[in-house]
Amino acid sequence: ERDAAFVAAWLTASADAVRAEADRLTELDSAIGDADHGNNMRRGFTAVVASLENEPQTAPGGVLLLAGRTLVSTVGGASGPLFGTLLRRAGKALGEAERVTDAELKEALGTGVDAVAQLGGAALGDKTMLDALLPAVDALPDYAAAARAAEAGSQATIPLRAHKGRASYLGERSVGHEDPGAASAALLLGALFQVSR
Ligand code: ADP
Ligand code: MG
Ligand code: MG
Repeated sequence: ERDAAFVAAWLTASADAVRAEADRLTELDSAIGDADHGNNMRRGFTAVVASLENEPQTAPGGVLLLAGRTLVSTVGGASGPLFGTLLRRAGKALGEAERVTDAELKEALGTGVDAVAQLGGAALGDKTMLDALLPAVDALPDYAAAARAAEAGSQATIPLRAHKGRASYLGERSVGHEDPGAASAALLLGALFQVSR
Protein backbone atom coordinates (compact mmCIF):
# COMPACT_ATOMS: atom_id res chain seq x y z
CA GLU A 1 0.00 0.00 0.00
CA ARG A 2 1.04 3.59 -0.65
CA ASP A 3 0.63 6.63 1.56
CA ALA A 4 0.77 10.41 1.15
CA ALA A 5 4.55 10.43 1.67
CA PHE A 6 4.98 8.06 -1.27
CA VAL A 7 3.04 10.31 -3.62
CA ALA A 8 4.84 13.40 -2.31
CA ALA A 9 8.17 11.62 -2.90
CA TRP A 10 7.06 10.85 -6.47
CA LEU A 11 6.30 14.52 -7.14
CA THR A 12 9.57 15.64 -5.55
CA ALA A 13 11.50 13.15 -7.70
CA SER A 14 9.54 14.41 -10.71
CA ALA A 15 10.56 17.98 -9.88
CA ASP A 16 14.21 16.89 -9.66
CA ALA A 17 13.98 15.10 -13.03
CA VAL A 18 12.25 18.06 -14.67
CA ARG A 19 14.90 20.45 -13.33
CA ALA A 20 17.72 18.19 -14.57
CA GLU A 21 16.15 17.86 -18.03
CA ALA A 22 14.61 21.34 -18.42
CA ASP A 23 17.07 22.42 -21.10
CA ARG A 24 16.38 19.29 -23.16
CA LEU A 25 12.60 19.79 -22.81
CA THR A 26 12.92 23.38 -23.99
CA GLU A 27 15.12 22.29 -26.90
CA LEU A 28 12.43 19.81 -27.99
CA ASP A 29 9.84 22.57 -27.75
CA SER A 30 12.03 24.95 -29.74
CA ALA A 31 11.91 22.48 -32.66
CA ILE A 32 8.11 22.15 -32.84
CA GLY A 33 6.70 24.71 -30.40
CA ASP A 34 7.56 27.97 -28.65
CA ALA A 35 10.61 26.93 -26.62
CA ASP A 36 9.04 27.25 -23.17
CA HIS A 37 8.23 23.69 -22.14
CA GLY A 38 11.26 23.17 -19.88
CA ASN A 39 10.59 26.46 -18.12
CA ASN A 40 6.88 25.71 -17.81
CA MET A 41 7.53 22.30 -16.22
CA ARG A 42 10.30 23.59 -13.96
CA ARG A 43 8.17 26.47 -12.69
CA GLY A 44 5.17 24.20 -12.17
CA PHE A 45 6.94 21.39 -10.34
CA THR A 46 8.98 23.78 -8.19
CA ALA A 47 5.65 25.28 -7.10
CA VAL A 48 4.25 21.78 -6.48
CA VAL A 49 7.10 20.90 -4.11
CA ALA A 50 6.66 24.23 -2.28
CA SER A 51 2.88 23.76 -1.98
CA LEU A 52 3.35 20.29 -0.45
CA GLU A 53 5.79 21.74 2.10
CA ASN A 54 3.41 24.57 2.98
CA GLU A 55 0.26 22.44 3.12
CA PRO A 56 1.23 18.90 4.16
CA GLN A 57 -1.37 16.32 3.14
CA THR A 58 -2.38 13.14 4.94
CA ALA A 59 -3.87 11.27 1.97
CA PRO A 60 -2.43 10.31 -1.45
CA GLY A 61 -5.52 11.85 -3.04
CA GLY A 62 -4.96 15.11 -1.21
CA VAL A 63 -1.35 15.27 -2.41
CA LEU A 64 -2.42 14.76 -6.02
CA LEU A 65 -5.26 17.29 -5.77
CA LEU A 66 -3.00 19.98 -4.36
CA ALA A 67 -0.27 19.25 -6.93
CA GLY A 68 -2.75 19.36 -9.79
CA ARG A 69 -4.27 22.62 -8.62
CA THR A 70 -0.80 24.11 -8.25
CA LEU A 71 0.21 23.10 -11.79
CA VAL A 72 -2.96 24.61 -13.25
CA SER A 73 -2.42 27.89 -11.41
CA THR A 74 1.32 28.30 -12.02
CA VAL A 75 1.85 27.10 -15.61
CA GLY A 76 0.59 29.32 -18.41
CA GLY A 77 1.22 26.87 -21.26
CA ALA A 78 -0.99 24.01 -22.40
CA SER A 79 1.00 21.56 -20.29
CA GLY A 80 -0.14 23.19 -17.01
CA PRO A 81 -3.87 22.54 -17.33
CA LEU A 82 -3.19 19.14 -18.93
CA PHE A 83 -0.74 17.69 -16.37
CA GLY A 84 -2.73 19.56 -13.71
CA THR A 85 -5.92 17.83 -14.78
CA LEU A 86 -4.15 14.46 -14.78
CA LEU A 87 -3.09 14.87 -11.15
CA ARG A 88 -6.28 16.57 -9.95
CA ARG A 89 -8.59 13.98 -11.42
CA ALA A 90 -6.41 11.14 -10.13
CA GLY A 91 -6.52 12.75 -6.68
CA LYS A 92 -10.27 13.13 -6.81
CA ALA A 93 -10.60 9.45 -7.80
CA LEU A 94 -8.57 8.37 -4.76
CA GLY A 95 -10.65 10.42 -2.32
CA GLU A 96 -9.53 10.70 1.28
CA ALA A 97 -8.15 7.20 1.90
CA GLU A 98 -4.83 7.40 3.77
CA ARG A 99 -3.52 4.24 2.11
CA VAL A 100 -4.13 3.05 -1.41
CA THR A 101 -3.11 -0.06 -3.29
CA ASP A 102 -1.04 0.00 -6.48
CA ALA A 103 -4.15 -1.19 -8.33
CA GLU A 104 -6.13 1.77 -6.98
CA LEU A 105 -3.34 4.13 -8.01
CA LYS A 106 -3.35 2.65 -11.52
CA GLU A 107 -7.09 3.13 -11.79
CA ALA A 108 -6.91 6.71 -10.50
CA LEU A 109 -4.12 7.64 -12.90
CA GLY A 110 -6.15 6.05 -15.69
CA THR A 111 -9.06 8.31 -14.78
CA GLY A 112 -6.67 11.27 -14.87
CA VAL A 113 -5.29 10.33 -18.27
CA ASP A 114 -8.83 9.93 -19.63
CA ALA A 115 -9.58 13.45 -18.37
CA VAL A 116 -6.50 14.76 -20.22
CA ALA A 117 -7.78 13.18 -23.44
CA GLN A 118 -11.19 14.72 -22.85
CA LEU A 119 -9.83 18.18 -22.07
CA GLY A 120 -7.37 18.31 -24.96
CA GLY A 121 -9.38 16.30 -27.47
CA ALA A 122 -6.31 14.24 -28.38
CA ALA A 123 -6.00 10.50 -28.94
CA LEU A 124 -3.13 8.02 -29.18
CA GLY A 125 -0.92 8.89 -32.16
CA ASP A 126 -1.65 12.64 -32.18
CA LYS A 127 1.94 13.30 -30.98
CA THR A 128 1.13 14.56 -27.48
CA MET A 129 1.82 13.61 -23.88
CA LEU A 130 -0.93 10.98 -24.28
CA ASP A 131 1.41 8.89 -26.44
CA ALA A 132 3.52 8.36 -23.33
CA LEU A 133 0.74 8.42 -20.71
CA LEU A 134 -1.70 5.92 -22.24
CA PRO A 135 0.75 2.98 -22.65
CA ALA A 136 2.27 3.75 -19.24
CA VAL A 137 -1.06 3.50 -17.43
CA ASP A 138 -1.76 0.27 -19.30
CA ALA A 139 1.52 -1.17 -17.99
CA LEU A 140 0.81 -0.21 -14.37
CA PRO A 141 0.91 -1.49 -11.64
CA ASP A 142 4.30 -2.71 -12.92
CA TYR A 143 6.22 0.53 -12.32
CA ALA A 144 9.30 -0.55 -14.27
CA ALA A 145 7.20 -1.55 -17.28
CA ALA A 146 5.25 1.70 -17.05
CA ALA A 147 8.44 3.77 -17.10
CA ARG A 148 9.70 1.81 -20.10
CA ALA A 149 6.35 2.16 -21.90
CA ALA A 150 6.30 5.92 -21.34
CA GLU A 151 9.83 6.30 -22.68
CA ALA A 152 9.05 4.10 -25.69
CA GLY A 153 5.82 6.03 -26.26
CA SER A 154 7.70 9.31 -26.23
CA GLN A 155 10.31 8.02 -28.68
CA ALA A 156 7.48 6.76 -30.89
CA THR A 157 6.23 10.34 -31.31
CA ILE A 158 9.34 11.21 -33.40
CA PRO A 159 8.01 9.97 -36.78
CA LEU A 160 4.47 11.22 -36.08
CA ARG A 161 2.79 14.33 -37.39
CA ALA A 162 1.23 16.49 -34.65
CA HIS A 163 -2.56 16.83 -34.69
CA LYS A 164 -3.02 18.81 -31.45
CA GLY A 165 -1.37 21.74 -29.73
CA ARG A 166 1.11 24.23 -31.14
CA ALA A 167 3.15 21.59 -32.99
CA SER A 168 0.11 20.88 -35.19
CA TYR A 169 0.51 24.34 -36.75
CA LEU A 170 3.70 22.99 -38.37
CA GLY A 171 1.87 20.19 -40.18
CA GLU A 172 4.35 17.91 -41.99
CA ARG A 173 7.27 19.84 -40.46
CA SER A 174 6.43 18.47 -37.02
CA VAL A 175 7.63 15.05 -38.24
CA GLY A 176 11.09 13.97 -37.04
CA HIS A 177 11.00 15.51 -33.55
CA GLU A 178 10.12 14.04 -30.16
CA ASP A 179 7.08 15.65 -28.53
CA PRO A 180 8.17 17.70 -25.49
CA GLY A 181 5.09 16.89 -23.40
CA ALA A 182 5.55 13.17 -24.04
CA ALA A 183 9.18 13.52 -22.95
CA SER A 184 7.98 15.15 -19.71
CA ALA A 185 5.45 12.39 -19.15
CA ALA A 186 8.28 9.86 -19.49
CA LEU A 187 10.24 11.76 -16.81
CA LEU A 188 7.25 11.59 -14.44
CA LEU A 189 6.87 7.84 -14.98
CA GLY A 190 10.61 7.36 -14.53
CA ALA A 191 10.40 9.20 -11.21
CA LEU A 192 7.46 7.00 -10.14
CA PHE A 193 9.49 3.87 -10.86
CA GLN A 194 12.44 5.30 -8.97
CA VAL A 195 10.44 5.97 -5.77
CA SER A 196 8.54 2.66 -6.00
CA ARG A 197 11.71 0.56 -5.61
P1 ADP B 1 2.45 25.48 -24.96
O1 ADP B 1 2.30 24.60 -26.18
O2 ADP B 1 1.21 26.19 -24.60
O3 ADP B 1 3.66 26.38 -25.06
P2 ADP B 1 3.98 23.58 -23.40
O4 ADP B 1 5.09 23.89 -24.33
O5 ADP B 1 4.32 23.67 -21.95
O6 ADP B 1 2.72 24.49 -23.70
O7 ADP B 1 3.45 22.10 -23.63
C1 ADP B 1 3.38 21.56 -24.92
C2 ADP B 1 2.97 20.09 -24.81
O8 ADP B 1 1.61 20.01 -24.39
C3 ADP B 1 3.01 19.35 -26.13
O9 ADP B 1 4.31 18.84 -26.38
C4 ADP B 1 1.98 18.24 -25.93
O10 ADP B 1 2.56 17.09 -25.37
C5 ADP B 1 1.04 18.84 -24.93
N1 ADP B 1 -0.24 19.20 -25.56
C6 ADP B 1 -0.53 20.34 -26.23
N2 ADP B 1 -1.82 20.31 -26.65
C7 ADP B 1 -2.33 19.13 -26.23
C8 ADP B 1 -3.63 18.50 -26.34
N3 ADP B 1 -4.65 19.10 -26.95
N4 ADP B 1 -3.79 17.27 -25.79
C9 ADP B 1 -2.78 16.67 -25.14
N5 ADP B 1 -1.54 17.21 -24.99
C10 ADP B 1 -1.33 18.42 -25.54
MG1 MG C 1 5.57 25.49 -25.47
MG1 MG D 1 3.89 28.41 -24.54
